[in-house]
Amino acid sequence: MFNLNTFDQCSGGNPAQCEASVRQLPASLDGGLRLILLGAPGVGKGTQADLLRRAIGITQFSTGDFFRAAIADPLAPHSAATMAAIRRISEGCLVPDDMVIEIVRGEMHRLRNPAGVLLDGFPRTVPQAHALEEMLSEEQLQIDGVLNYVLPTEKVVERLAHRRVCRVCKRSYHLVELPPQEEGHCDHCHGELFQREDDRPEAVRVRLDLYARNTEPLIGWYHKRNQLISIDCSGTPQETHLLTLQALHL
Ligand code: AMP
Repeated sequence: MFNLNTFDQCSGGNPAQCEASVRQLPASLDGGLRLILLGAPGVGKGTQADLLRRAIGITQFSTGDFFRAAIADPLAPHSAATMAAIRRISEGCLVPDDMVIEIVRGEMHRLRNPAGVLLDGFPRTVPQAHALEEMLSEEQLQIDGVLNYVLPTEKVVERLAHRRVCRVCKRSYHLVELPPQEEGHCDHCHGELFQREDDRPEAVRVRLDLYARNTEPLIGWYHKRNQLISIDCSGTPQETHLLTLQALHL
């Protein structure tokens, strides 16, 4: 399934602050929007992606979902490299850039989708952003905006500790703020709710450190390109969704 040779060091760092302004999108709506979702783990990118998908018919490509589906597929060959990647994911560490870039290259048709695409979880490092820029320019495509969801770290940690996900339809719940009607089961499809392996506190600390070190530099990268749209997501998912639509002029 994966072709992988090397793994990056899983490293620490200080969570840094990011700006919380909302700037306007230079809209180029013909052919669908191509958007990148940025934000620390736990800010609710997946939920916002789902709301946007339903509101404007845009498609979503989540590299995290791609990995989880591949891991859960009993028919997928699990090479030593794949097993190492699975271990990295369950520890909350990043999968190496070359492996992720290769996967996204294999999924280029998603970037060309006329309905537009939300990239959720990619790019996550500056080398991945470089690679994406190259892929898009080969296809004469461009990114219309980078939605940067902003939430204080304490709130992120709290949200992840209470997050439960449906095994079947992948909907997310918050045990306190958005509990399921029946404990342990999804309201939508009655699938079993579980806590993601990488939402355990040890893994969360690693993911937040990795985010600060590897992904936060992308905020400056896209700001310089005048593509950054920062959105405060301390409100409810619906409030954040409305802010997103406003920022996109939709
Ligand atoms: P997510 O659901 O986006 O939080 O992704 C879950 C896990 O998949 C991450 O913690 C990483 O281990 C791995 N992963 C997903 N996308 C990437 C990426 N772009 N680069 C490196 N690792 C990734």
